[in-house]
Amino acid sequence: MKEKCCDVLGKELKSGKKFVINRTASGEEWIPAFVQKVDAEKCTGCGSCIRVCLGNCYELKEVLVNGKKKKVSVVVRPENCFGDCHCHKVCPVTGGAMICKPKEILY
Ligand code: SF4
Ligand code: SF4
Repeated sequence: MKEKCCDVLGKELKSGKKFVINRTASGEEWIPAFVQKVDAEKCTGCGSCIRVCLGNCYELKEVLVNGKKKKVSVVVRPENCFGDCHCHKVCPVTGGAMICKPKEILY
């Protein structure tokens, strides 16, 4: 099974929980990781995640970070996320400014 695109996913996979899986056209399993939020302190506001996101999950917004106005990417439509990690792969911040997690199966 293909594994992680980020550290968060790697840690989650080691927890022993069961997660929603997807399959490639060849039938290989992979675990999608769905976006939760963007760390506004880390985000540079470059907009790369917005350009690649097929789910239209992000918008650039001006927010207060440590008392100063800053343009950052904000997750506004998390329900649209495909869990494909494209945003994570293009983010210039080491490790990614966004947090994505697999969806745990609770039954
Ligand atoms: S994982 Fe894919 S769909 Fe989800 S926010 Fe990132 S780029 Fe968009
Ligand atoms: S790609 Fe990363 S740094 Fe650029 S706007 Fe998105 S979250 Fe911020």
